[in-house]
Amino acid sequence: MFIFASPNEKQVIKLHDKYFKPFISAEEIDEAVSRLAVEIAEDIGDEIPVFVGILNGSFMFTSDFVKKYPKPCEVTFIKLASYAGIKSSEDIQRLIGITQDLTGRTVVVLEDIIDSGRTMDEVHRIFENEKVKSLKIATLFFKPEAYKKDYKLHYVGIEIPDKFIVGYGLDYDGLGRDIPEVYQIKKTEHMINLVLFGPPGAGKGTQANYLKDKYDLVHISTGDVFRYNIKNETALGMLAKSYMDKGDLVPDQVTIDMLNAEVEKNADAKGFIFDGFPRTSAQAEALDALMNSKDSEIKAMIALEVDDDILVKRLLERGKTSGRSDDADEDIIRNRIKEYYEKTAILKNYYSAQNKYFGVDGVGSIEEITVRVSSVINSL
Ligand code: AMP
Repeated sequence: MFIFASPNEKQVIKLHDKYFKPFISAEEIDEAVSRLAVEIAEDIGDEIPVFVGILNGSFMFTSDFVKKYPKPCEVTFIKLASYAGIKSSEDIQRLIGITQDLTGRTVVVLEDIIDSGRTMDEVHRIFENEKVKSLKIATLFFKPEAYKKDYKLHYVGIEIPDKFIVGYGLDYDGLGRDIPEVYQIKKTEHMINLVLFGPPGAGKGTQANYLKDKYDLVHISTGDVFRYNIKNETALGMLAKSYMDKGDLVPDQVTIDMLNAEVEKNADAKGFIFDGFPRTSAQAEALDALMNSKDSEIKAMIALEVDDDILVKRLLERGKTSGRSDDADEDIIRNRIKEYYEKTAILKNYYSAQNKYFGVDGVGSIEEITVRVSSVINSL
């Protein structure tokens, strides 16, 4: 096992050829196991149950569970045998091993994880012949999206999404069972995600147009998406218009939801250039969460630095042809610049603190500025 020390990839581990990121902490697992012990003890009362752990995966869960079980109990194991060499999705697997007489007993099967539920066929097949008093199924982890069977799962510790996990008894090709917490598989994509930053009129849109082709990235300008919605008179457009007309920011949640949807539309992108987003701390945090959900991150904020007076001049000039009402009026332009410095410029600190802020002189010809920005991207 190899642990990375890079500050942005905290505790990513590598098992064989795959990378895994921390997912469920030892404390959370401990809580879930305690909860299951209490719940099951309450249901069973004073009877002495037989807990049946399913090897190999549930050895750790079974061990921790019975330590927490507040009353006398018996513990045994059965083992799942996968016949090596047969590799199909319906991998032939059999449970082997109940040796004691379970007639009239209350049996609780302890599973580490239930995903498709294929083992449940075998479990039920085995206990059908045992004349048990009752058979209950308890699983520490459960993937509801993957579950394809109708068997009732009486006790569920933690529901998780349908992604591969390791640790706490669960392995990836033999490795990882010994880890006390749970890790989730990490896609090994390496996206280049950039935030293009700067006050209105700094040339973000112009630069993004060159960069997206040069680096094969998807350009998302929240201002453009709002204007597209206004043009098409959507509900989102109507809402945004009232803010945009004054040069104010559209409320965070509206903007964040829209941005998430735009990113989702481009699931195959090699990376994104975010232009006009984030503009507030809440948006920056939402963007980090979104990137994290894609096992990715923002690589850099590239800020185009331009003086206010040049900005006003540029925007008034653009307003003559762009048709943008917020470019036509000097007061609105100044309000947009003020909004930038009051609300948005704090993001410089947000990204600086992560060593991801790169200021670039935004005055000069378009080509000159593209060269400056490209040299930052190439250095990443
Ligand atoms: P822009 O084209 O980036 O200058 O954006 C034009 C206007 O759209 C801004 O003045 C805001 O009213 C709105 N807008 C664009 N992006 C955002 C954002 N990230 N958060 C809030 N409002 C935004």
